[in-house]
Amino acid sequence: MKPIYHNIAVNRPLEQLFTYAHDTLLPVGRRVVVPFNNTTQVGIVWQSDVTPEIEVDKILPIQTVFDDEPPLPQQWLDLIEFSARYYHYPLGAAAFVALPTAMRQPEKLSLPKTEEYWTLSDLGRQTTPPRYPKQLVLWNALFSGSLNRQMAKQIHTDANKYLQQWLALGYLKIADKQQPVVLEQKIKLNTEQAMAVETVLQQQDVFAPFLLWGITGSGKTEVYFEMMAEVINNGGQALFLVPEINLTAQLLDRLRRRFPAVETAVLHSGSAKTARSWDYLRAMNGTAKIIVGTRLSIFTPVPRLSLIVVDEEHDNSYKQDNDLRYNARDLAVWRAKYANCPVVLGSATPSLESFQAAQNNRYRLITMKNRANPNARLPEIEIFDVKRQKLNNGLSDKALNLLEENLKNKGLSLVYINRRGFAPALFCGDCGYSFSCPNCSAKMVWHKYQRVLRCHHCDHKIAIPKACPDCGNQDLTAVGYGTQRIEETLKKHFQAAQILRIDSDTIARKDDWSKARQAIENGTADIIIGTQMLAKGHDFGRLNLVIVVNADGSLYSADFRAVEHLFAELMQVAGRAGRAERAGKVFIQTQLPHNPLFSFLKNQDYQAFADNELAQRKQFNAPPTVYAAAIRADAVKIQDALSLLNNALQNFRLPEQVTVYGPAPQLMTRLAGRERVQLFLESPNRQALHTAVTQFSQQLNNSISGDIRVSIDIDPYDC
Ligand SMILES: [Zn+2]
Ligand SMILES: [Zn+2]
Repeated sequence: MKPIYHNIAVNRPLEQLFTYAHDTLLPVGRRVVVPFNNTTQVGIVWQSDVTPEIEVDKILPIQTVFDDEPPLPQQWLDLIEFSARYYHYPLGAAAFVALPTAMRQPEKLSLPKTEEYWTLSDLGRQTTPPRYPKQLVLWNALFSGSLNRQMAKQIHTDANKYLQQWLALGYLKIADKQQPVVLEQKIKLNTEQAMAVETVLQQQDVFAPFLLWGITGSGKTEVYFEMMAEVINNGGQALFLVPEINLTAQLLDRLRRRFPAVETAVLHSGSAKTARSWDYLRAMNGTAKIIVGTRLSIFTPVPRLSLIVVDEEHDNSYKQDNDLRYNARDLAVWRAKYANCPVVLGSATPSLESFQAAQNNRYRLITMKNRANPNARLPEIEIFDVKRQKLNNGLSDKALNLLEENLKNKGLSLVYINRRGFAPALFCGDCGYSFSCPNCSAKMVWHKYQRVLRCHHCDHKIAIPKACPDCGNQDLTAVGYGTQRIEETLKKHFQAAQILRIDSDTIARKDDWSKARQAIENGTADIIIGTQMLAKGHDFGRLNLVIVVNADGSLYSADFRAVEHLFAELMQVAGRAGRAERAGKVFIQTQLPHNPLFSFLKNQDYQAFADNELAQRKQFNAPPTVYAAAIRADAVKIQDALSLLNNALQNFRLPEQVTVYGPAPQLMTRLAGRERVQLFLESPNRQALHTAVTQFSQQLNNSISGDIRVSIDIDPYDC
């Protein structure tokens, strides 16, 4: 028999495909195992029935074919090819970044069981429906569509019992095909919400990117749900992306309550290996109608993709900062274009990239300016100058008075500080010695209760020193404030109050968070101390006072995006206050009260902030007014990394319209024992930039040697 040749993408950081032989024709997208440099590698058939470009007697046979698995579809292969090209990353490696762990291994997958779906039989349809309302909901769902046991149980906890009964009476039959059931929404949308839904749904079968700019509390989630309901009813699937920190039990609960009878796939890096590959496959074979997940779920094959929603589209966690450095928000727009469907980017504080796109009419802007609860009032924001104030371990007298008053009124307060640990640094008052991480350009953070100094970048730990290693002084001083130090201060000050600290040190285990939530909801907590973890995605109806301890760090930062992030973060924290009927108060301590950011914040005026910030970016030629790529190199010795970039630059003819900045050390030069440098290529023309990156990386590949590592970051976030 004549062998048939296939080009295979293997899980190696290599640009090219490799040719292998097999007796029969394999479909594109099939997972296989192939011999590779004396090892066995998992591979994906990328091209079938090819004419080999190497001598045929050198071509090895494919070892194993996983032919009981469904092949990855062409749309997925196209997505990977685009991502690899756009982010300048090897195709084979890109393909495997995009797969769940179980599929990255040269092993057979366990496949999800096919479940039986039930619907009413002809006899059932002619029978009088049950009288009890909850049974009736179940009955109606079986009347209008089909349910499996799991979904039936989500509608009615005793569903199993009724399914048995009705089956015995001949009222049910196995459904020939799965027909999702979308129950009616119980909440009525307000005019703005309804308009938003209608605007998007008018464009159901065409590529249409929308920016949904809705203030905190305007009810964006109900809008997403309503749009999802409609596309599912029309036989489509919806992809719903959320930031890492927002994929909470609370959100999944809401989703299940709204769509109890719709199969949902949940994809995030924390889900168990088998569960994740099953969810991936259920999305891929069309069974799951809703696919919800963090950034990596953007790579899920969705055959009937009819809507993409990117919630909190400005969030940093959509950007992956290692390996394939993709931005899930941007890939979402590409996928919507490919699938000819609408994509909705939602935020209260859109990224400047998206806001500019809306101003240039590349995206359609939908605004929601009112809170969904008409009685809820916007919080009052006070900017408080602490320059000449005596602080009580980080808190002004005024902040303490506000907390005391709120305690008396039985309100719930949040003290927000985006730094965990006790103090960001430990310092010798006599000689000025401070404790730095030996591996990173960073100070070690003092964790008082664990009695360690700890690096938040590489997790290096040392016991708390008893004296200064330089001069022997035993009186070391804590500099700055972290959550633990604020907790200590507040506990001393408000001895009767219930104080709850929420940061990644207290919320380490799975049920820690639900315990904390319960304390908040039951009213047992009076004051919460929290980091960014708490700023996002959680609703605490009672919360009516927010104290921001110190927001100034970002205003000194050399990172041009720091101010944009700070504004989004503070707007988000402020939005936590007064979601219910009691107006909230937000009190921000700063040493820089005249920074323009604070006046935009005080007026809760995103538009003015964005206009001002975009004008500055334009003036300094920074993204989004230009396109940028960062070329980074790291090595044990900084000189090695620098000369690699410098040499490549010397042999490189800079294309027209492209500007180069650097090379220079990164802001945080030393990380985990390596010195990091970078240069930026920028251009107002995207194509010119990509050509330059391709040519430059060829120069780099010609001269790279030793232990130097190189990476390319398109549309980078870090600097
Ligand atoms: Zn000293
Ligand atoms: Zn470190």
